[in-house]
Parts: sequence; structure tokens; C-alpha cells
Amino acid sequence: MARPGHKYIFVLGGVMSGVGKGIAASSMGLLLQQRGYRVNLVKVDPYLNVDAGTMNPTEHGEVFVLKSGLETDQDMGNYERFLNRDLGPEDYMTSGMVYKTVIERERALEYGGATIEALPHVRDEIMRRIEAAATTADSQVSVIEIGGTVGDFQNALFIEAARVLKLVNPEDVAFVMVSYLPVPGTLGEMKTKPTQSAVRALNSYGVQPDFIIARSAGRMDDKRKEKLAVWCNVRPDRIISAPDVESIYDVPLNFERDNLGDLLLDKLRLSKDQPADMGEWKAFVEKTKTLRRPVKIGIVGKYFDTGDYVLSDAYLSIIEGLKFSGAELGVKPEITWLNAKDYERGLSVDSLSDYDGILVPCGFGETGIEGKLKAIQYARENRIPYFGICYGMQLMVIEYARNVLGLEGAHTTEINPDATHPIVAIMDEQKKHMAEKKYGGTMRLGSYIELVKRGTIAYEAYGEESVEERHRHRYEINPAYVERLEKAGLVFSATSPDGVLMEVAELPRSAHPFMLGTQAHPELQARPLAPHPLFTAFLKAAAANA
Ligand code: GLN
Repeated sequence: MARPGHKYIFVLGGVMSGVGKGIAASSMGLLLQQRGYRVNLVKVDPYLNVDAGTMNPTEHGEVFVLKSGLETDQDMGNYERFLNRDLGPEDYMTSGMVYKTVIERERALEYGGATIEALPHVRDEIMRRIEAAATTADSQVSVIEIGGTVGDFQNALFIEAARVLKLVNPEDVAFVMVSYLPVPGTLGEMKTKPTQSAVRALNSYGVQPDFIIARSAGRMDDKRKEKLAVWCNVRPDRIISAPDVESIYDVPLNFERDNLGDLLLDKLRLSKDQPADMGEWKAFVEKTKTLRRPVKIGIVGKYFDTGDYVLSDAYLSIIEGLKFSGAELGVKPEITWLNAKDYERGLSVDSLSDYDGILVPCGFGETGIEGKLKAIQYARENRIPYFGICYGMQLMVIEYARNVLGLEGAHTTEINPDATHPIVAIMDEQKKHMAEKKYGGTMRLGSYIELVKRGTIAYEAYGEESVEERHRHRYEINPAYVERLEKAGLVFSATSPDGVLMEVAELPRSAHPFMLGTQAHPELQARPLAPHPLFTAFLKAAAANA
């Protein structure tokens, strides 16, 4: 069933999650791509949610929306940023998706009366999807990251599918385990035992890793490398030390230093004729390290607190988007996370004067909303550059309606369905979804064309009249209020091609140095080698204010 000559690299996690499997997979993809191979990266999420759209970002991190509109894991964002290209919906799968297909096929009698079981039917559906992704991308190498850790119940069928793929194509499959070597404080010594156990666990599935990427705080010494090699049955040169790094964009360069790209090609019997072209990437990484001029950005959001920890994962692409534009402009964005709820609990918004720019990101529901509105009002009245993304745009327009138009009770129907002035309201087709409790995958999702008006700040940034941006929202600026808002000075600088949906709102330069909100999510298309023009425009204005 496999494409002839196609190669597969499975990336598995050992010991614990969160050690950078996604970055390792992205980096391997980049090393192969820069050697002239066509690569597709696939993420396997073992949970039963059909997509990531219904998951709480505090728990699971950002929901990354593909061009197609599929709501996926944040790793897909890293993949796209490293490869500098759009990935397709085939490049993502969850257990929920896989089971859903099998069950639907069973209900349609497509298995002709057979007894349907995890093996072989679910496994075969996994293999079918892996093939479909490679075919659609027309790639030569697929790098497939299996979520979770070896030993989990949840991902066992995916590992089983990989094992069978290797059995059928022994020359074409490589297994890479990304593991972790702790240095317990009381011992002060780097321990290999957890990795040995993880490899044993993987062996019990019938799978032997060909490579170990050993994540750790510091570099691994030769003694430990030899130990791992013997105990885990992996060639020492295929054990790659991957110490913590300042920036995730260093990882492919470090891998390259350890020759991982060529080692992978050797293992897969692919030609090494073309040397890796890492020049542009290296230049980007070096640039990010020489940035000295700080620009202070306050991000007013709500998805940070989990217990005693502050998590910024929910806003990952925004952080990266600021970094890329920073490198382009030669400034260093310094982000402070500001909890919107604090402004509701009495913290004065005057403290926002510390920041050169204020950003209100995406969000859902009521939590922190009045705090965000206060922050937006402060940014507008004090001429601090403001960038609103999705909810941040909707709230910017509500703030304008309340405080400039004097429309008391201006609100979004997401919070107050009976608002006297429903400035932001639900679209008709969405009403139906809500009534039927169809929440999953039903927002306005994925890429849509926007028409940008000449002579606006948005046009100045984009330099184009027609742009495509990815979306993820249910509510829209209410067309019934557009004329009044415009008369009061707000400019809708981009709309849907039919002119009905407001895509970008801004204040003219005469009124404010930079006050702009976008209904779409520009951060999803910001790339290291292609920064997003709206992020760059915002950061430029903030730098001028610094
Ligand atoms: N909650 C808003 C909506 O559904 C904004 C969504 C977002 O910020 N992504 O329209």
C-alpha cells in the first residue's frame, strides 16, 4: 500500500512529554527539505477529540488553524513555520478522527459484515491516512510525530501502525525517540536510566529506535552516550545530544552540527548529493541574537493561569509573530503577560503607560472582558499603539461604540444576547449551529480573501488590495452599525469581497499613531523567513513610541 520508495521517519517520545518532540520533528523536516527533498510533516494526536477546536487552550495550548480551516495542535504551527509552507488537513490526525471514519464506514456497511476491531481496522485506517498525507503532499519523506509518550495506552495503535509499515518496507522507515535525561538536584549527575526504560518499553511493541535525541539541560558527555548506546542498542553516532537552547530555531542548526541530516539520509538510503542549504535560516537565527533595542509589549489576555504557573502556550503563534517582525525591524520585543481580570479587580490601567504597545489577542466568553475594554480605552486615549486580534478587534470596536459614539450597552451578543446595541453579533448560519449544539468545527474557519482599501494603514502594511487570512470566530461586526461607526471616525479598512463582513478596523493616523484590529488571525501565517506585515506595522509603531 506504500508509495514506492517513499520514506517515513516516526518521532516518538520517551520518559515524559513536553521535551520538544514537535521541534525535533520540525527540525528534521527542515534539514531534509533544505537538502532538496520534498517533506511533509504529520502530527498524530492520540486523544478522542475529533479536532483541537473544542479544547481549552489553558490545557492544550493554542489551537492552530490550517489554511483549510482544520483546527489542530500548536505543533502544526511549528511545522509550518519551520518548513515555511502551508500544510494540508491530511497532515493532522487524532484518534477521534480515525475512529470516526472507521465507525462511519462500519455503519455504511463498507466492511461487508466483518467484525470491526482495533486491529486491523483502526490500524489500517491510520496507515491509510499516513499514505494519503504523503500522496496529497507528493512528498518523498514523511516525518510523523506520534503524540504522547511511549507506554501510554492512547498512542499504542499508532505505534503498531508504524511497526507494520516498517515490517512491510524495512528499508524505508526510521524510528527516532526523543527522550529526556534528568539531572536530579541531589545527585548532580545526568541519568540515563529513564531513557533505557523507555527504549525497553518501545522494544516491547516490537520497535527498535534507530536514533535517540537526548534532551537535557546541559550537553551529554561521551560516557553517557556510550552507556545509552550499549543499553539501548543504538549506534553512538545516532545518539544526538540536544541540550536546552536559547531559541527553538537553534535546534536544526545544532542537529546539523551533529550531522543528523546526513545520518537520517544514510539510514533511509537516500542520496546525500545535495548539501543542506541553511544560509537563510542561519541568518535569521543570528539576527534574533543580536537584537538589543527593547520594545515593551503588554499582552492583555486571560489564558495564563494554571494553578501557580503562568503559561503562554495559548498565545504561541503571537509570541513567534512578534519575534519574526522584531528580527525584521532590528528590535527586541519584550512581552509582559497582563491578566485582564486584574483591571476588573481594581488594578489601575494607568500602569499600562509602561508599555510601548498593547495587544489584545483572541478569546472567548466573558472572563476578563471588561478589563480588556478598559485597557483598549487606555491605549486609545493615551495614543499607545494597539493591535487587536479577533476578540481584540471586536472589543476595540465595542469600546469605540461605547466611549466615542456614547452607545451605552454596546456589547457582543456572545456575552449579552439582549444587548441594547449589539455591535458584535452572531451570523445567521451560526445561530443554526448553536441551536443544534454543533460546536465542533463550525466556526468561520480557515482562509478567506479580504479586500483592503487603499490609503489605509492596513493597505500601507500589506501593500496589496487582496489578501488571504485565516479565521476562527463565530461573531462579526454587526453590519447595522457600520455606517454610524464610520461617521464617528472608525475606518473599516478591509472587508470580505462582498463587503458584508468587516475584516480590519483602524483609526486614521491623524487620530492615533496605530490603533488597528483584525478579525482574522495574522499570527497563523507569520513565519521566520516571512514575517507578517501587520505584526511588523504594529511593532514599528510601538518601537517609535519606545
Ligand atoms: N469569541 C469571538 C468570536 O467567536 C472571538 C474569537 C477569537 O478571538 N478567536 O467571534
